[in-house]
Amino acid sequence: LIWFHSNFWRFWHITDLHLDPSYHLTPDPKKVCYSSKGVPATNPGLYGDFLCDSPFRLIESAFTNMASLTQPEDFIIWTGDSPPHVPPDELSTDIVIQVISNMTQTIRQHFPNLTVYPAVGNHDYWPQDQMPTSTNAIYKAAAQFWKLWLHDDALLTLSQGGFYSQLAKPGLRVVSLNTILYYSPNNVTQNMTDPAGQFEWLEKTLEKAAENREKVYIIGHVPVGFLPFARNITAIRENYNERLVTIFRKYSHVIAGHFYGHTHKDSIMVLLDKEGQPVNSLFVSPAVTPIKNLAELYSNNPSFRMYLYNNKDYTMLDIWQYYLNLTEANEKQRSDWTLEYIMTEAFGLTDLQPQSLLQLGLSFMLPQTKSFDKYFNHFMVNIIFQSYTHLSIACVLLSGYEITQTYM
Ligand SMILES: [Zn+2]
Ligand SMILES: [Zn+2]
Repeated sequence: LIWFHSNFWRFWHITDLHLDPSYHLTPDPKKVCYSSKGVPATNPGLYGDFLCDSPFRLIESAFTNMASLTQPEDFIIWTGDSPPHVPPDELSTDIVIQVISNMTQTIRQHFPNLTVYPAVGNHDYWPQDQMPTSTNAIYKAAAQFWKLWLHDDALLTLSQGGFYSQLAKPGLRVVSLNTILYYSPNNVTQNMTDPAGQFEWLEKTLEKAAENREKVYIIGHVPVGFLPFARNITAIRENYNERLVTIFRKYSHVIAGHFYGHTHKDSIMVLLDKEGQPVNSLFVSPAVTPIKNLAELYSNNPSFRMYLYNNKDYTMLDIWQYYLNLTEANEKQRSDWTLEYIMTEAFGLTDLQPQSLLQLGLSFMLPQTKSFDKYFNHFMVNIIFQSYTHLSIACVLLSGYEITQTYM
């Protein structure tokens, strides 16, 4: 359907690379990667293991495959988390900076002609999650590395608070939020009303965008709203969540989409206004890293995605989700990244407008719906399930900050 649209453009979303430089194949499965934290790797191969963060080879194969699909007018959003999941004493400020530098250079080498809009993740700091409200070595280093892509005014707020905005196309602004300032485990910002002045800055930025008749894409690492698998736990502190939702509602006519990472799972949310009307679509992209905890039954396959948007009004048209079947790639010692699904086709939608996504979410509540099974399968990036508790996920989708009743 989309090919009949002459007025669409595209951008790409990569997130949660989580490079583990220690990953290597060795006879002792406990020693394959530091990120398994001493747990034996289950099925380690060239492209990784479900108990480990990404080997460099996996990240390179993702970018190589993605690069062959890109066009010169595309851009990339990159929503953070480059370092591995390892105990704090195995990292340091210097190591975190090195990893961010490595990932920045790797992206640049594969996409020399595309602009990349990064956002900082909770692992892009040392110690993790503890992002400060003023300038520091890591914000400064990021601003230094990302000079490749960002203008001076963006680099200034980035080096001071880890956030920025920049015009991506005429009339389209990317606003990159530092949601780690609001993340529950961040002790630095515990009792602050407006950490790093980001709320005030965001309101001003959106107000100005409205005056200039721009549309805005919000990008960030930790999403607003409820966490997957949890029915009423927000990822960021509740008071910050409320404040953000208030701002997003006020400027929902300016915001044409929200794009997040962090959960490593593929999911959508709908922002409702006070009357319960759908006003914004939110997209959470699955990760490149396949890592899971020992306690989790399943993980996600490595993934990246492409968005199609309308180049007249910047509304969201579609998602093309790509993935690597990790088990198969390891067996064949070859990385055949493939298209997992096209959102409109998979769910019978005409576009990704808030109304369409809300309808889809509501359809999940119907008895014997096939669409939810499909959604859940994609949520885990094509890991096939025997049986699972689906309903809590449907609640996440529908949470939209206002629907609070539970469906279990
Ligand atoms: Zn992550
Ligand atoms: Zn994260």
